[in-house]
Amino acid sequence: MLFDSHMRILLEASVALVNALTDGQAHGRRYIAPEGAQRVGAVRAALAAGTDLEVGEADRLADTARALRGVFEAAAADRLDDAAAALNALLRESGARPQLDRTPGEPWQVHFHGADDSYAVGWSAGCATGLAMALGGDHAGRLGVCAAPHCDRVYVDTSRNAGRQFCSTTCQNRVKAAAFRARRAGHDA
Ligand SMILES: [Zn+2]
Repeated sequence: MLFDSHMRILLEASVALVNALTDGQAHGRRYIAPEGAQRVGAVRAALAAGTDLEVGEADRLADTARALRGVFEAAAADRLDDAAAALNALLRESGARPQLDRTPGEPWQVHFHGADDSYAVGWSAGCATGLAMALGGDHAGRLGVCAAPHCDRVYVDTSRNAGRQFCSTTCQNRVKAAAFRARRAGHDA
């Protein structure tokens, strides 16, 4: 198994936060990240949050998402020193620390908490730790930015052969369709 279930949750949360809360391009279109109350909704959707969320917490997570994007971009471009520096800053700011937690009836698990138990700081610490474990655990190559034109959404490659290039099947199909059109145009010429 490449990542255990807790790590997987943290990595998926990192991807979801970056893709929902940072401006850029998504699947061929300009993407403007939501603000205010809509930002709260985007965070709740990204993290499958059941609880109410203050705008301030969503704002803090948007800052974290921008920092996490820098980590994905640096890792994808093989600038690992930059990725590590950005993660160390985020680990320091969030006060990330391990703690043993358990849900009744389940075994004890190491979870990562922040300097305080607020939602935003906790998730910032968790996401930073997840990416740090991937980067420091020989999985830096698993952090990617979509290779499709006009898309900069990020992903974690959990495929067996480490061959993932795109953020989604939407982008994979866009690229396939463009290649098909190009081949057909070549035949017609
Ligand atoms: Zn994409």
